[in-house]
Order: sequence, then C-alpha cells, then structure tokens
Amino acid sequence: MLRVAVIGSGPAGVYAAGALTEHDDVLVDVIERLPCPFGLVRYGVAPDHPKIASISLALAKILQHPAVRFLGNVEVGAQITLEDLHRHYDAVLFASGASIDRRLAIPGEDLPGSFSATDFVAWYAGHPDAPVNRFTLDARTAAVVGAGNVALDVARMLAKSADELRSTDVPDHVLRALRASRAEDIYVLARRGPAQAKFTTKELRELGELANADVLVDPAELELDDASREKVAHDPVVRRNLDVLRAWAARPPTGRPRRIHVRFFLRPVEVLGDVHVTALRLERTRLDPGGNATGTGEMCTLDAQMVLRSVGYRGLPVADLPFDVQAGVVPNAAGRVLRGGVPVPGEYVAGWIKRGPTGVIGSNKRDARETVTSLLADASALPPAPVRDPDALVHLLAGRGVSVVTWQGWCAIELAEADPWWTRGRDRVKIADRGSLLSAAVAADSTTEQVTRR
Ligand code: NAP
Repeated sequence: MLRVAVIGSGPAGVYAAGALTEHDDVLVDVIERLPCPFGLVRYGVAPDHPKIASISLALAKILQHPAVRFLGNVEVGAQITLEDLHRHYDAVLFASGASIDRRLAIPGEDLPGSFSATDFVAWYAGHPDAPVNRFTLDARTAAVVGAGNVALDVARMLAKSADELRSTDVPDHVLRALRASRAEDIYVLARRGPAQAKFTTKELRELGELANADVLVDPAELELDDASREKVAHDPVVRRNLDVLRAWAARPPTGRPRRIHVRFFLRPVEVLGDVHVTALRLERTRLDPGGNATGTGEMCTLDAQMVLRSVGYRGLPVADLPFDVQAGVVPNAAGRVLRGGVPVPGEYVAGWIKRGPTGVIGSNKRDARETVTSLLADASALPPAPVRDPDALVHLLAGRGVSVVTWQGWCAIELAEADPWWTRGRDRVKIADRGSLLSAAVAADSTTEQVTRR
C-alpha cells in the first residue's frame, strides 16, 4: 500500500485525496490544522452563498471513503514536523492554501479601522482564529479596496441586514453586529477600469439585487480605451460585467437605506487618521500601454471610518518546504516540490500554495489531479516510509497531547451546530470558538479506536 498524507482539507486537498482513492493500493490521511474540514468552503465562502457552500457535501463524500482518514486539529509545523511525516508516509502532499492577505504598502494601513478582507471574511464565517469582537460595524462609510470577488462578498455582507442573513449559518455574534451596523455608504474601489476588474458576472449582478442597498456607478468611469474595447470584444465575462455596470449607471437610486458605490480608476495612497481611520486618500489613475494602473497626480479624499483591503490572498511558508516569497508559492513542477530547481521525491503541492490564489473552487479539481498524476508516476521509485503502522502517527500525536478530531468528531460538531438548544429557532448556527468545537467533537473521539479505524 502507498501511504499518502495530504495536508489541508480544503477543496485542493480533498480533491487530491479523491483522485488518490481512484487507485486501490493507496491509503490517505487528510491532516487539517482546524477541528473542522473543508478550508475556504467553510471559512471563505460567504454565508449567503449556500449553493457554493454545499460543495462540502461532495467533499464530505470523499473524506468518508474507506481509504481516507480525516485527522483534524493537527498543525503540521507545530505538532508534527515534515520529518515526522516522511517517517510515516511514502508521500506528503501539501494543500495548505494561501491564508493571509496581500498588503497595500501605504501609510496608515495598520490604523485601527483598517482591516484585511481576509480578517472580515474569517470573522463572519466563524473561523476559530477570528476574535469574536473584532468588528463592531459602527462606520457609516466603508471603503473596500480591490475589484475581485472577495471585495464583492465583503461589500455585500456590509450592505445586507441581519434579517437577510438570519436563515444562514452565520454565528450569533455576527448577526448581532450586523443588527447594530451603522453602515450607509460602501465604496468598492478599483485601481483599474471596468474591463480589468476581476469580478465574475454572477457575483457582480448580485450587488444589484439587494433589498437594502442601491448600487451607484458613474457612467464616466465606464468609458473604455482601445485596449479595453478590444478586451470587451473578446472576453464574454468582461462584456457581461460591462452590461451589468452600464445598466446600474443608467438606473436612478431608489432611496434604499444603504448605497454601494462601485468606483474605477482610483488607487489608495494613504489611510488617514490619528487614532482611527477617518478617510482614504486616493489618486486617480489611467491605464498605461501595458494595461497597468498609473497615477495621474490628481488626488481626492474619501471620508470613511472603515477600510477593508481586499487585494488578494498570499501563501505562507509551510513546514520545512522551500518557498518563493515573491510569488507566495512553493516552487514546483506539475505539483512536484522543487528544491534548488530539482524535484524532491515524495513531496508534492496542490491548490493555492502550488499555483497562487486564483480560480474558483472547481479549478482545484484539475490542479489536484495534475499533482496526483505526478505522485503516482513517481510512486514505484519512492523509498517506503520506515514506519508502516497506520496508527503510529495517531499514537505519536496522542503522546504529544494533541486531541485529534476524527470524521466522527466532525459529525458530532455538525450535530451540535444544528442542535435546537444552540440554534434557538435557526436551522444551523456555526460554532466559532475552538474550545466549543473541540468539546463537541470530544465525546465522539474519546477512544483511539475511533481514530485508528483502519
Ligand atoms: P483577486 O480576484 O485577485 O482580486 C484582487 C483585486 O485587488 C484586483 O482587482 C486587483 O487589481 C486589486 N489589487 C491588488 N493590489 C492592489 C493594490 N495595491 N491597490 C489596489 N488594488 C489592488 O482576489 P480576491 O478577490 O481575493 O479573490 C481570490 C480568488 O478567490 C479569485 O480567484 C476569486 O475569483 C475567488 N473567489 C471566488 C468567489 C466566488 O466565486 N463567489 C468568491 C470569493 C473569491 P489589479 O487587477 O489591478 O491587480
């Protein structure tokens, strides 16, 4: 049997496990830092996108395959080392994602009131590492910097009322903060033009369908240069996005309590304020011949009490793997980790830590399959791991005081999140606190027999 450890239970890791289970002679342990599986499907997808979140059902099927074992609440790099993994597995496949935000690198970026969108997303998604009281939502004007789908998610979440989100699984503390929200104006700021925005049309269109907010677009900012016109002609997504934006620009506001302003050709140069954000200083841009944003020197100030930087995710170095700091990825060739440009037998990567933070959830399927193809092509030449007992790693972790959350533990968490005592009239409410997640799991995981079910 080939024994493979997959690190990370987001879509890339689980799709990799799924591709491995297509082969009879492979056993897979999916090792996850958090007590809960599914990565950004649980902790990144907006709560009002239940259809996307339901991808977790397909991922769950893979994690329940007899050849797959889920080991949650285990942090590689802290509780077990890469060396430990090599002792227990013939191959190690890292799919640990890109977990932190990219920076704007402008003065004032770290003032209170200026946050990364990744922090805001983690908070409303009930991530156990996100402090419950991080967001109070007392800003009347919020500026969201960036023109990608995450910017749309956070702008929409700021614009929605608590009542609109009551039927989702957002934690109660998020509903409470949304109920007290004083938001009136939300600005989505793109440094380039509408033809260069990274929005997908379905997500963009949703902004215009909110019960609580009007969307405002300045028609002058939708004017296109020749290169952008060319893009519109050849890229159906860009064309559809422009249709949506033009329709909004032609639509008078209806007096809804909140307004989302989608603005183009503005880049932040400074976050202003003494003890808290009070405004954002912006420079008007134009496109250079390469299609990049270049400053025009024309400045303006947007009064805002909250800034959310939504300019993309960034990978972090993993365990003892090599890391390309510039690209935020582990250097690799078709998923094989490269050390000094040379593939390392038995070490692989998939997902955002392999290719960078791009694409939709489904993109990870193809990506993971490519990595698994490389792994299986190498398999016969891989030196076997010295420790062959599948339970040895679990015992090692127990000896280090780690409470492993198994699949049964996760099922117990799911039951606890739907317990009427906890949900008080809602269908399901996420448990955000790590201690409570572990207590919910612990009853199911109290015996090592359940951990070592193979
Ligand atoms: P993204 O799509 O890469 O967008 C990042 C945005 O930030 C771009 O508009 C970029 O502008 C802008 N930006 C970068 N640096 C900047 C700076 N210094 N100043 C101002 N603007 C700057 O990233 P994302 O929104 O975080 O999304 C990550 C991935 O997750 C994407 O593939 C996205 O589609 C996916 N996602 C999908 C969904 C969904 O399908 N519902 C939801 C959320 C996320 P430039 O283009 O000019 O660099």
